[in-house]
Amino acid sequence: MKTYLVTAINLSNYAIGESDKVLVMFSKEHGLLKAVAKGARSTKAKMAGKSEALCVNKLLINKGKTLDTISQAESIETFPKLRTDLKRLTTGFYLAELTQAFAEGLESECDEYFEFLNKALKLLEDKDTDATLLRLQVEMCLLNILGLKPELTVCVNCRQLITEYSIEAFLSQLGGVGCKSCMQSAQSLPKIREAEGFENIAQMKRVYLSPMVWKTLVMALTNSDKLDPNPRIILSEAQQKALAFAVKISKRYLEDRAGKPFKTLSLLDSIT
Ligand SMILES: [Zn+2]
Repeated sequence: MKTYLVTAINLSNYAIGESDKVLVMFSKEHGLLKAVAKGARSTKAKMAGKSEALCVNKLLINKGKTLDTISQAESIETFPKLRTDLKRLTTGFYLAELTQAFAEGLESECDEYFEFLNKALKLLEDKDTDATLLRLQVEMCLLNILGLKPELTVCVNCRQLITEYSIEAFLSQLGGVGCKSCMQSAQSLPKIREAEGFENIAQMKRVYLSPMVWKTLVMALTNSDKLDPNPRIILSEAQQKALAFAVKISKRYLEDRAGKPFKTLSLLDSIT
């Protein structure tokens, strides 16, 4: 029987058969993969604890005709402190859902992304970490890796450099921000945009951005190159408000790209 070894983080799972689970995982070696964990729904089974979402295991997997099966598992990390804090745990589940939604685009950099996700979850366990800021930084990193990062420093229409005085709105459809002069003058979009079916920037759906919300997004995107989230910053009340608005913008942008809403985010919204 053909076997292979992986180190993988559990993203989600679903029931199969009488007592088994199919684990959906992101592995360091191959990116997204699925395998059956035999007996994992029985509390006494060896795999029961290791099959929980966000657990990291080293696995020996048997190749099957339709589904592969886990034959041995060694626990590497379980993030125990995450499991005692509902907001942090739900943020972790959201990062898993986000990873699963965009996993195809992450395959060529699975090793790097695996390490990054692990690091992000470790940081999330730390009570000094601002969970919302970490979430925004992870989102921007992910978009950066996928080559989908939003345009925040120049206007998507006139390509003029954006400043805190010229920022006006975020246009998710066009993938970035629009300046005051474009948004207020009802000017036509460049030809290329017309070809994509967009006509007039002034008539497009937009979300108005305050300079502080814009800066919050820019900072998160600027730090995303390093794949090194730094959420241990103490935010003022005004910065926290700006951050709460910035994650809404980011949510809309990510959901537009994924083509579906994220289930864990509605849960997270009800907690925070
Ligand atoms: Zn403009």
